[in-house]
Amino acid sequence: MIEIVIEDRCTGCGDCVDACPSDVLEVDARGKARIARQADCQTCLLCELHCPTDALFVWPDYEAPVGITAEQALASGQLGAFRRDSGWGEHAATHSNQHWRMGSIFERARLQAIEIAARKSVQAEETVR
Ligand code: SF4
Ligand code: SF4
Repeated sequence: MIEIVIEDRCTGCGDCVDACPSDVLEVDARGKARIARQADCQTCLLCELHCPTDALFVWPDYEAPVGITAEQALASGQLGAFRRDSGWGEHAATHSNQHWRMGSIFERARLQAIEIAARKSVQAEETVR
């Protein structure tokens, strides 16, 4: 699940907002990305792939946030690691694409997205009644 945006690194480009399939992220009035709907995160890591400044930190637990701080994310050495190891963007020349390793996580994310959509549909119907 998306855990944190490192604000000092964020340029407000909006690439993560465009990439997120679940509308989790927004760029706020200060020009910084913020996590607006964390519970909707599918843990797909697309935001990490698309962030050009390695400002986002997604933890592999897809069920609940674990509360990782900016300090912990920076100290982990993992910021940008997924983008790099996926051979994405500027890393394409130096790293082979290892994106296939995410297959099981993407499958869980897909099932969770279906579950979330069904839950929202039921809630919308109940609101109409
Ligand atoms: S991990 Fe996927 S669903 Fe979660 S915020 Fe990033 S792009 Fe959105
Ligand atoms: S992609 Fe990265 S730099 Fe751009 S708005 Fe999102 S977090 Fe900020």
